[in-house]
Amino acid sequence: MKYLEEYRDRALVDKLVAKIHQSATRRHTLMEVCGGQTHAILRFGIDALLEKTVTLVHGPGCPVCVTPVAMIDQAIALAQMPDVVLCTFGDMMRVPGSRQSLLEARAQGGQVRMVYSPLDAVKLAQADPTKQYVFFAVGFETTAPANALAVYQADQQGISNFAILSTHVLVRPAMETILKHPDCRIEGFLAAGHVCTITGYAGYEALCEQYKTPIVVTGFEPVDILSGVLHCVEQLEAGVASVQNAYTRSVQREGNQQAWRLVETVFEVTDQEWRGMGTIPRSGLRLRSRYGAHDAAQRFEIPTPEPAAANPCRAAEVLQGFITPHECPAFGVSCTPEAPLGAPMVSSEGACAAYYRYRRTEALNTEG
Ligand code: SF4
Repeated sequence: MKYLEEYRDRALVDKLVAKIHQSATRRHTLMEVCGGQTHAILRFGIDALLEKTVTLVHGPGCPVCVTPVAMIDQAIALAQMPDVVLCTFGDMMRVPGSRQSLLEARAQGGQVRMVYSPLDAVKLAQADPTKQYVFFAVGFETTAPANALAVYQADQQGISNFAILSTHVLVRPAMETILKHPDCRIEGFLAAGHVCTITGYAGYEALCEQYKTPIVVTGFEPVDILSGVLHCVEQLEAGVASVQNAYTRSVQREGNQQAWRLVETVFEVTDQEWRGMGTIPRSGLRLRSRYGAHDAAQRFEIPTPEPAAANPCRAAEVLQGFITPHECPAFGVSCTPEAPLGAPMVSSEGACAAYYRYRRTEALNTEG
């Protein structure tokens, strides 16, 4: 555990906080892109440490949260088909679709299997050729290589009863959408370290140049996050904007090229719908036609249920940093982890789940 402790070292944390306060001549508003960073910020009270100088706004980097409701409905519809088993990570099980979650669908007889890896779903398909196994492939660039590998292996091994329901999203186009919004107040980004481990950060350079916005690749421990904040603040104070890497122990400029080559072998870039953010051009991945036999959307006639009545969930505003979860009237009242109205309350990377876990009493005190 020595490694982790070093990145949580109190003396180093205090030093970085003092340096940020000394560097800032005014308040700065930064967005941490990744839900994992949001959880760390709330867990370690980093936002409170920076209260005087930096506002940290939570971004859209929770893949489960940005998956459109219609895709969850499609996954449920697949699970209800005879001889189809829908395989998914645990996070997705409790996310509400327009009428029910995968967990509820399973309780009503739907065939839903929780797996820990897409390769587990390939193994299940290989072991049971009497059924069709569909993996619900949700995620950012971080998870795309594992999903690409599952499809690639199934194809190589002739496992024809394995397919994926693909809803992959790409971070950079979402960051650009946020910057383009007329109400955008973000002055700098803490880019998601694990995404950059795969993609590198060269792709952010044009974005940074075009919008004159600092982008700092940032990790997930307190020292990582505060280092990212410090780099952003120093750039803003100096009136410059560049891409910097504050997560050098994991990220290189060109990323993991072998992993990304595999992604590009299996997937191609496509327009993608994001929950609450609409369709963002070239912000998703779909299977190339060469792998169409493993594409659940092509293999099955998936019924698309009528949209249900309007949901009061304000996830779209939370995910773009327009409101905090505390500002959603449903937070902790009609929306809790046990009875979530939206994905951000149930996903392990969701901002609402983080606020519920670490700041619930604060909301109650404010109300009181
Ligand atoms: S608290 Fe619940 S209803 Fe409100 S935005 Fe978060 S998930 Fe949606």
